[in-house]
Amino acid sequence: MQEIWKSTTKRDYDERMNCCPLCSSGDIGPYDHDFHGAMIEKCAGCGMKFMNPQHSDDYLRDLYGGYTELPSELADISSPKHDWRHSVHAYYLSLVENYTLRGRLLSVGSGDGVEIDAAQRQGWEVEAYEFDPSLCAFLADSLKVHTWAGNFPDITCESDHFDCVYLHHVLEHPKRPQDFIRTIHRILRPGGVLFVACPNIESPAARWKTLLGKSGLKKRRGRHYDTWHHLFYYSPNVLKRLLEERFDFDVVHIRNGLGEQMRGHSESSLRHAMAWDGIMPVWKSVFVLIAKKR
Ligand SMILES: [Zn+2]
Repeated sequence: MQEIWKSTTKRDYDERMNCCPLCSSGDIGPYDHDFHGAMIEKCAGCGMKFMNPQHSDDYLRDLYGGYTELPSELADISSPKHDWRHSVHAYYLSLVENYTLRGRLLSVGSGDGVEIDAAQRQGWEVEAYEFDPSLCAFLADSLKVHTWAGNFPDITCESDHFDCVYLHHVLEHPKRPQDFIRTIHRILRPGGVLFVACPNIESPAARWKTLLGKSGLKKRRGRHYDTWHHLFYYSPNVLKRLLEERFDFDVVHIRNGLGEQMRGHSESSLRHAMAWDGIMPVWKSVFVLIAKKR
């Protein structure tokens, strides 16, 4: 995804929340802060870490209104420079296919569409969601997919429709991930599969950066929270517990994910890394989770 790495939108915050948005516990308190002054809190009830207060709706609307640049960088997603990204998604989809037959897949936060292209090549019937209507129009035109725009929880898609809902680096972005998860549960068929890849805040790398920041040894404390666009910070165990205890999913697979370090790697070295990561404990900066709707 071609992203605007330095948001030009002026930061603007809501009132501080006085309970955890995911489990409603009032037992929340300071965990860390970053060099922008954004506060990170932790819930003692479910273990979730999140920015509090969060960005205002106006800030987020401006940010996601132009999140993915159009269309120069996106004109050719089949360019060889994107091959490694196709390989990553092809591998992730092969994991999904261990738990469901290929059928209808919703790509949530499709960006430039590489994940749509990868799923189509693999035989999935793909639909796409993006906040920005102009990006949806681009994806509909270039990849011939049905698209959904606007606020995700408001989409009018019928219930029990999809075999897979695919969120690649998405769940850390929305202000109310609980509404995303409930919507996903509604539109998945029973037994359908939710795929999530996102940063692992409990990874050794993230813990190390947090420790350095708290010790005053980092020039830009808390840069790894990416607070200009990430609002929630997951770990595999916290997300698993939430999905199973509060959202009626069964988590069937957790493993290391593949990060930006794979950029430019050949198909064969990607395959090697993927096989190796599958048998390692979950410790990388990105994790992958697959859950089935009960
Ligand atoms: Zn909580």
